Amino acid sequence: MSISHSPARQPPAPRLDLDEAAAHARRAAVLASVESILGWDEQTMLPPAGGAHRADQVAAVASLAHSLRTDPAQGDRLERLAVAMEGGDWSADERATVLRLLRDYRKHVRLPARLVEETARACIEGQQAWVDARRRSDWKGFAPKLAHIVALKREQASCQSPDLDPYDSLLDDHEPGARASDVSALFDRLRPSLVPLVRACTGAPHAPLDDVLRGQFPRGAQEVFVRTVAERIGFDFNRGRLDSSEHPFCSTTGPHDCRITTRWDESYLPTALFGVLHEAGHGLYEQGLREQAFGLPGGEAASLGIHESQSRLWENLVGRSLPFWEWCLPLARTMFPAALSETSPESVQRSLLAVRPSLIRVEADEVTYNLHVMLRFDLERALVRGELAVADLPSAWDDRFEQDFGIRPANAAEGVLQDIHWSAGLIGYFPTYTLGNVYAAQMMAAIERDLPALPVELAAGRFGSLLGWLRERVHHHGRLIDPGRLVAAATGGPISERWLVESLWKRYGSAHGLAQRPPA
Ligand code: ZN
Repeated sequence: MSISHSPARQPPAPRLDLDEAAAHARRAAVLASVESILGWDEQTMLPPAGGAHRADQVAAVASLAHSLRTDPAQGDRLERLAVAMEGGDWSADERATVLRLLRDYRKHVRLPARLVEETARACIEGQQAWVDARRRSDWKGFAPKLAHIVALKREQASCQSPDLDPYDSLLDDHEPGARASDVSALFDRLRPSLVPLVRACTGAPHAPLDDVLRGQFPRGAQEVFVRTVAERIGFDFNRGRLDSSEHPFCSTTGPHDCRITTRWDESYLPTALFGVLHEAGHGLYEQGLREQAFGLPGGEAASLGIHESQSRLWENLVGRSLPFWEWCLPLARTMFPAALSETSPESVQRSLLAVRPSLIRVEADEVTYNLHVMLRFDLERALVRGELAVADLPSAWDDRFEQDFGIRPANAAEGVLQDIHWSAGLIGYFPTYTLGNVYAAQMMAAIERDLPALPVELAAGRFGSLLGWLRERVHHHGRLIDPGRLVAAATGGPISERWLVESLWKRYGSAHGLAQRPPA
């Protein structure tokens, strides 16, 4: 039913523009959410032969979404609104909404349709070639595909943000407002604290072993256990699901439909549990966004780094803490009595802090993880800037790896070919993992100041005040505030690596019997 207003009672034109711009943005978001349900289905349910038709479905929806996002009528409305908002009675949220929608529109509209389609195709082909190349450790077969993708991403960078350095343009897609020079300076301050910590941990005479949670953990009981933990920390199964996939992920397909996955190892409990804690951390963020702002910046995540801060906080800073295991171990023991009869919360927690340098990023512990990320950041930045040729990437990778970790990959599969990201066109993405760790540690330091009773609450299985803090300080703002300002406002200080360094030295130093002192 429609209601007709007499002209005299109609809201002023800019208000109508804002309503229409918001409705338009929501239509694009609904289409994008169809793309995500197709992606979720592909990774959890799709029969192998369905892949080619699924690619057609995704391409069709993506093309519709791109044409909506670049609709000139939407661009005109947003430009008019930006001018109208220089005066008048507008809230800060309304201004931020229009500013961000206009920023997105200008970025999308500068990309030629030919480039968007060619990039989409190159990335689908790149991922297929990567799967095969990694299996056979065949760098030479993959290199031309990657060279093509890098060329397309450089073109995308210069089209969408002609005033930015090309790598900054790609980084900005994932971490709005972040600049490579700042990230690089942050990493340069972080590295000199991490390298000696890794050496001290691996050389410690009484280093912990990750053997406490090994044993027999039947899949059925694990499913009940991890679901109970996810529910207890606040994941709402009325608005979400838990399924299985080869690589755990979190996918949101609407304001009331957030889906997480994990994988299972019947001989090692942490595989499924930490997959769930990580992905439920992402899911809690998605479920904490304002549902009435679905499709608008107020209802969308601030950045990949902020997203990762939420998953890492629950996975590492809660899930590897002693108070968490004081609550969780008795629960786990009711389900796995034989495997856990000899354990204590202290022994479990210590075993979860074992440090073991590994060639593979996704198997890395919390301390060495950031060194894997820094290596990828430096190499991809050099690629985009034309300072490193794709042909020279494997030797550059191996040299740097040896320098940072003291071991050299034996082949491309355990070196330069191990991650899917570059084959999927995700360049400027890796640094957000370490930014997430930096943000998470800084938030946890603020949380510990604001909530002094937190250890007691966690030990009793009460997670409400921690989640409440994150809801209010982080989730509620969506992407109306850029990540740097969001972290500063939430924690009371500018982004700093200091909290991550202190947190790692304190927790891992203690588990390894080291002096409690990060280097000056
Ligand atoms: Zn994550």
